Amino acid sequence: MTMDDPLMSARARVLHDLHASGNDDPRAVSILEDAVSERRWWVSEWPEGAAYVAGQIAQDVQDALLDSVGRWPLCRACDEVEPHELRINPELGPDPRWVCERSGMAVAPLGEL
Ligand SMILES: [Zn+2]
Repeated sequence: MTMDDPLMSARARVLHDLHASGNDDPRAVSILEDAVSERRWWVSEWPEGAAYVAGQIAQDVQDALLDSVGRWPLCRACDEVEPHELRINPELGPDPRWVCERSGMAVAPLGEL
């Protein structure tokens, strides 16, 4: 794995977080692969986007999982008992972090859940 390739780095970070929540099943990994290949085209059209691509891929996977398996990743960081998800913040920017959508608490950098 070469971390110099922003797409491979992004893939590794999202895969780590899927694994951390036990969601790294074949369907989720396939969703991730599709997101990476679609974003490869996006980065080729907009090279400056390479700095943001990890957060974009995480959100692509999150959206695709919502349609199939449900909310991911679930927040376990705050006191809110009703299941709710983490969101990437900033939505389009460098150094993406998972933030609790209810409390606004920053939970972990992408790739470190
Ligand atoms: Zn929360």
